[in-house]
Amino acid sequence: VLVVLSGGTGGAKLIEGLSREVPAADLFIVGNTGDDFLFHGLHVSPDLDTIAYTLAGIADPEKGWGIAGDTFVVLERLARYGAEDWFRIGDRDFATHIRRTELLGRGLTLSQVTAELARALGVEAAIVPMSDQRVETRLCTPAGELGFQEYFVKRRWQDEVESIVFAGAERSAPAPGVLAAIARAEAIVIGPSNPLTSIGPILAVPGIRTALREAASPVIAVSPIAGGAALSGPAHRLLESAGLEPSPLGVARAYADFVDTLLIDRQDASLEGPIAALGVEPHATDIRMPDLAAKRRLARLVLEVAGL
Ligand code: GDP
Repeated sequence: VLVVLSGGTGGAKLIEGLSREVPAADLFIVGNTGDDFLFHGLHVSPDLDTIAYTLAGIADPEKGWGIAGDTFVVLERLARYGAEDWFRIGDRDFATHIRRTELLGRGLTLSQVTAELARALGVEAAIVPMSDQRVETRLCTPAGELGFQEYFVKRRWQDEVESIVFAGAERSAPAPGVLAAIARAEAIVIGPSNPLTSIGPILAVPGIRTALREAASPVIAVSPIAGGAALSGPAHRLLESAGLEPSPLGVARAYADFVDTLLIDRQDASLEGPIAALGVEPHATDIRMPDLAAKRRLARLVLEVAGL
C-alpha cells in the first residue's frame, strides 16, 4: 500500500499521476478535512471531493476544482434569493454535498460517507478523511478569525495571518484505518500540498505525526514551493508567518521530524546543503505538473525514490 497525505490541488495532481503508475487499489489517500465547511446547510469537503473527482476522471482540469462541464444554475438561483455565492458549487457538485449531508444526518461517519461516494463514482483507491471528527482550520488575522474558505476563496488570501488554529484537533482521532495504513505502508508520500493548511491539519490529529515518525517505510515529500513562491496559493506567505523560510527549506523544516526525502525544484538546488543539514535528503527535479505527462513523470520519480 502507498499512503498519500494530500490537500486538494497540488496533492490531487500527484495522486492523478500515481494512479496511472500503480494499481488504484494500492493507494490509501488521507485527505485534509480542515477546509470542510457548511454552505447553504450542506457539508462541503473540498479536498476529499477534488481527490475523488480526479480519480473518477470527472474533475475540471481548467479550474482545478469541481466537475468538468458543470453548470451553475442552482448557485445562480440561490444568488437571486440573496444567498451567498462566493464559493462556487456547480449543479453536479451540489449533488455530492446533498448526498453527503443526508448520509451524515443518518448517522454515518465521514469516512463511511466518503467511501460510499467514491464507490459510486467508480473510484477504487481508498479515500479517507484524516478524522471522522470535525477539525476546523481557523486563521487569525487583523480582521479577526477566519475559516479557511473565508480566508482563501472569499477574501482571496489577502489577509495577513498571525496564527493558524486547528479547532477540535485535540479531541479528534485518526479515521479508522489511517494509523494501520501508515504502519504497514510500503511508502508514504506527502503530496505537494500547503504544509500549514493542507498537511498541517492532518498532522494535528493526535497520533498521526507520531505514526509517521515511527513508520518503517520511506517517507517522501514533494515541495509545493519553487523559487521562493508556491506554484499556486499562499503557502510561501503562510510559511513565513509561521517563522519558516518561504522556500523548500521551510517545507523541510516543517517536516524534518518524519520526512526522509524531499523532492525540490532544480532552481532550488542551492538549498540542498541546508536541507540535508536538517536530516532530510533533498532530490532536485522538475516539480511542476502542468499536464498528465508531468504528473506521471513525477509520480514515477516518487516511486523510484521510495524504492518501489
Ligand atoms: P488546497 O486544498 O487547494 O490548498 O490543495 P493543496 O494544498 O493540495 O494544494 C495547494 C498547493 O499545491 C500549493 O501550495 C501549490 O504551490 C501546490 N501546487 C500546485 N500545482 C503544483 C504543481 O504543479 N507542482 C507542485 N509541486 N506543487 C503544486
